[in-house]
Amino acid sequence: PPILLWFRRDLRLDDHPALRAAADEGARTGRPVIPVFIHDELVEGFGAAPRWRLGLALEHFARRLEGIGSRLILRRGQAAAQIARLVEETGASEVWFSRAYDPDAMARDREVEDLGARVGFETRSFAGFLLHEPDAIRTGAGDHYKVFTPYWKSLRALEVAQPLSGVRKLSVPDKWPASDRLDDWQMGRAMDRGARVVRPHVRVGEEEAAARLDRFVEHRVGEYAEARDFPAVPGTSNLSENLTWGEISPRQCWHASCGADPRGKGAETFRKELAWREFAYHLAFHTPRLLRDNWRPEWDGFAWSADRRSREFRAWSQGRTGIAFVDAAMREMYVTGRMHNRARMIAASYLVKHLLTDWRLGQEWFADCLVDWDPAANAMGWQWVAGSGPDAAPYFRVFNPETQQKRFDPDGAYVNRWLAEGRADPHPDALAYFDAIPRGWSMSPRDGYPAPVVDLSEGRDRALAAYADSRR
Ligand code: FAD
Repeated sequence: PPILLWFRRDLRLDDHPALRAAADEGARTGRPVIPVFIHDELVEGFGAAPRWRLGLALEHFARRLEGIGSRLILRRGQAAAQIARLVEETGASEVWFSRAYDPDAMARDREVEDLGARVGFETRSFAGFLLHEPDAIRTGAGDHYKVFTPYWKSLRALEVAQPLSGVRKLSVPDKWPASDRLDDWQMGRAMDRGARVVRPHVRVGEEEAAARLDRFVEHRVGEYAEARDFPAVPGTSNLSENLTWGEISPRQCWHASCGADPRGKGAETFRKELAWREFAYHLAFHTPRLLRDNWRPEWDGFAWSADRRSREFRAWSQGRTGIAFVDAAMREMYVTGRMHNRARMIAASYLVKHLLTDWRLGQEWFADCLVDWDPAANAMGWQWVAGSGPDAAPYFRVFNPETQQKRFDPDGAYVNRWLAEGRADPHPDALAYFDAIPRGWSMSPRDGYPAPVVDLSEGRDRALAAYADSRR
């Protein structure tokens, strides 16, 4: 009987343990393998940009599978119900998948496992999304980690297995089950600017991901430790977009950097960043509240605003706070679907501190705009900035976005790339922002640059006063 191979955020042929095992099983026994993707709103009910990006990933991955003589069967609806139907239609006796570690996806996997036990199909799950299983790394006392540095020390002492060879042949069924048409899913329906503006900035699929990694390792990794903080410098790998959809595996990244420069500081720093991604899932796995609630409950009741319609939140999300670094960051995200890490920290900090707004509003907006949206990394990033997370930046340490700009964008290349107002000859990317935004925002490159929505020192004082109040 066939094996259903259920794909999720693991859309690749290379270094894919579940796919490798299915291909080997098919080759040995002749059992057919049926690759499926289920669009389940409970887990894949993403914001506009990730949904659109997932559509591109699926289109590409389906072609990859066709290239090796197989197919990707698409179904929509509640995953357990769809699996049950597929099992019945195909006579499959097993469902295999790569493990996921965010709470919604884990709950869904348990449901499918329970269903299998009830109706009589086997489930088998594989690693692949992370370097190490979230419970493989423990403190001396056997607990999970809450602080990054000791976590990193433990992680770094572990061997990372070598990537598996890619699958180039998959045994096929005599008859394929019916598949939805991807076009009917309209993955870009909330993302009018996707094809129009964002598309040239994204790199879809595992060939592009591998090329990105090669370029990074060849040209940038040596300088990475210094260059990674400057948003105008192409100093980082940009691989988050591919890692999040599983178009490349973390261990491919890990080993490529080891090969490039085994003891170099740049490569070591890069592996440390990969470890932050692991840490996000370590935290999400052990303390799922990371994704939705203040990780530190003493933050419940903090005096921040949760009003999506406030003048301040709107100014922030629309990139018109009047603070150049923040606006540049928000516009970069709207046009490219990505934002430099330094800029994420500044823009996020400005929202939760100067604008005294609940981090969850920022988290939600990022989740709507990022093509590299990752539930754990996004939540950890926001809670780190807000001060409500484990191992977080203390709330009273308030980034000054102007000082940050002087330090990390000293010649203004970043803000000039993204801001058009008041410039005689604006950068094409700065103008692209005005093609991207909805008409309702009524902004024009010919407007004057907005005055600050909040005076920086007043905003800072207000944040510190709220913090002092909350400690009382
Ligand atoms: P590189 O510098 O080349 O790093 C290599 C890889 O390491 C990245 O691709 C990423 O997978 C991982 N990584 C690096 N930094 C971090 C980090 N701080 N946390 C977790 N993983 C990291 N990252 C996401 O992938 N998705 C998100 O939704 C996301 N939201 C964030 C929200 C906020 C408020 C903040 C402060 C950070 C967020 N990050 C998120 C982390 C980080 O900003 C991005 O991973 C990074 O900018 C991606 O660029 P890169 O691929 O060039 O990274």
